[in-house]
Amino acid sequence: MDFSFSCPCGQALVTSVEKRGTEVKCPTCSATVMVPAAAPAAPASAKQTGSALTAKVITRYRDGYAVAGTLCAEGAQMKRLGFFAIVGGLVSYLYGLWYGPDRVGVAISLAAVGLGAFMVALGVFVSALGQMVRAALDSAVHGSPFLSEADKAKAMGL
Ligand SMILES: [Zn+2]
Repeated sequence: MDFSFSCPCGQALVTSVEKRGTEVKCPTCSATVMVPAAAPAAPASAKQTGSALTAKVITRYRDGYAVAGTLCAEGAQMKRLGFFAIVGGLVSYLYGLWYGPDRVGVAISLAAVGLGAFMVALGVFVSALGQMVRAALDSAVHGSPFLSEADKAKAMGL
C-alpha cells in the first residue's frame, strides 16, 4: 500500500507503508527525511467518540419516538373502541325503545354510550399527548448540536 507524506521542503513524497519509521532521500532537496511512523491517531479516535455519542443521541431520540408512536397508537385504539361502545349503546337503546322500554336495558345502553364517550375523550387526550411528545422530539432533534442533517433524519426515523 502506498502512503504519502511531505518533505520539509514541500515536496510530496510517496513511499510504501513498510518504509514507515525509516529514512528516505528527498529527490528535490536531497535531504534525508524520516518517514512518519504512523498516521496521526488523535483525529480518528475523536471521530469515533463523536460517532458513538451520535449513536447514543440517535438511540435516545428513537426511544422517545417509539413512546410517542405507542401513545398515538393506543390513543387511536381507545378512540375506536369508544366509538364502537357508543354505536353499540345507541343501537341497543333504539332497539329497546322500539321493542318497549325496559329500564335495565336502557341503563346498560346509556352506560355503554357514556363509557364510549369517556374512552373517545381519553383516546383523544392520549394521542394528543403522543403528538406533543413527537413535536417536542422534533424540535429537540432539529436543535441538537450533536447531529448532522443525515443523523437527524435517522433519529426521526425518516
Ligand atoms: Zn525535500
